Amino acid sequence: MTLEIVRIPCLSDNYVWLLHEPAGGAVAVVDPADPGPVRATLGARGWRLTHILNTHHHADHVGGNLALKAEFGCTIVGPRADRDRIPGIDIALGEGDTLDLGAERARVIDVPGHTRGHAAFWFEGAGALFCGDTLFALGCGRMFEGTAPQMWASLLKLRALPDDTLVYCAHEYTQSNARFARHADPGNADLAARSRAIDAQRARGEATVPSPLGLEKRTNPFLRADDPALATAHGLDPHDPAAVFAHLRRSKDVFR
Ligand code: ZN
Ligand code: FE
Repeated sequence: MTLEIVRIPCLSDNYVWLLHEPAGGAVAVVDPADPGPVRATLGARGWRLTHILNTHHHADHVGGNLALKAEFGCTIVGPRADRDRIPGIDIALGEGDTLDLGAERARVIDVPGHTRGHAAFWFEGAGALFCGDTLFALGCGRMFEGTAPQMWASLLKLRALPDDTLVYCAHEYTQSNARFARHADPGNADLAARSRAIDAQRARGEATVPSPLGLEKRTNPFLRADDPALATAHGLDPHDPAAVFAHLRRSKDVFR
């Protein structure tokens, strides 16, 4: 892999991702929640920030934009559909657009649902997907501004990527997501095994992100709404995956 990726924990449970392309020296930060920890990590590595990539407009994803831009003069890239809500945005991109970070190229995938405009950045060569609050390890984002059919369509686009893609989501929600996932899909042996591994990882204080997309496809109930077994287990019509997805998302919203 020619893209170096560094995890920066921020706020209570956010992950900010720092990307370094060694050949050209480009350095991008994905969703800088808070400028302080980003600045500290850049300083420790002797890197100069060239880009900010924003997946969506929420404060815990754009909070560091203006301070980092003032300090580094970096270029801010975000979803076209929400360009008015991304502080300091320079380049607005949409479905299929590409962004070159030195020798590494990111393709933008529009994934609305959590917010009206939400971008995912897929670095195909590096096998890395930065998906903000759309797809989480064993979960998906809440639908604050979108509908269930829209969110399901967005997740299907991400599910179409190769199994060995690593999913770099923006929050450490995995252990609580696993509790709901086991409740939603109790017969899934892969999920049960993964859930035990996650408990052990968290007990050791380890991060559970990134995760391989192939594992998400087998264990994340929000990527499995079109699995007839899962629909039937909930007494739902297996021919209407968007409705199954809507049911799962509503159930998760009130799950304790
Ligand atoms: Zn968000
Ligand atoms: Fe968030």
